[in-house]
Amino acid sequence: MKEHGPGWDHIIDPIIYFCKKYRIPIAQIKEKFGGLRIYVDYPTDPNFDEDNWVTLMKMIASAELAASRTCEVCGEPGELRAGYWLKTLCDKHHFEREEKNKEYERKLSLSGHRDNNQEQG
Ligand SMILES: [Zn+2]
Repeated sequence: MKEHGPGWDHIIDPIIYFCKKYRIPIAQIKEKFGGLRIYVDYPTDPNFDEDNWVTLMKMIASAELAASRTCEVCGEPGELRAGYWLKTLCDKHHFEREEKNKEYERKLSLSGHRDNNQEQG
């Protein structure tokens, strides 16, 4: 199952390629608290070259950093946004999410989940 948006694919792909090439097991790749998290297991192969592990750790560090500045939806420059969920988004997708949240709140209030502070206008 894919646990991150398509905007990060180009950041993650080289790591997947590297891991396949050197038979390094990928434990998990996911979005957490708006950031990219990549977990890998050290290969059990006794002939595995430790230098490849060091290279991979550097690649993961820079990928996670790049993702923190890249919209998870479209891959454009983005930043970490607060909200119901933390997400790294560009201005456009941040705005779209805000609109969706407003729409969702409107539907809740129309379906009878009103609190004491009734909306005005
Ligand atoms: Zn975007």
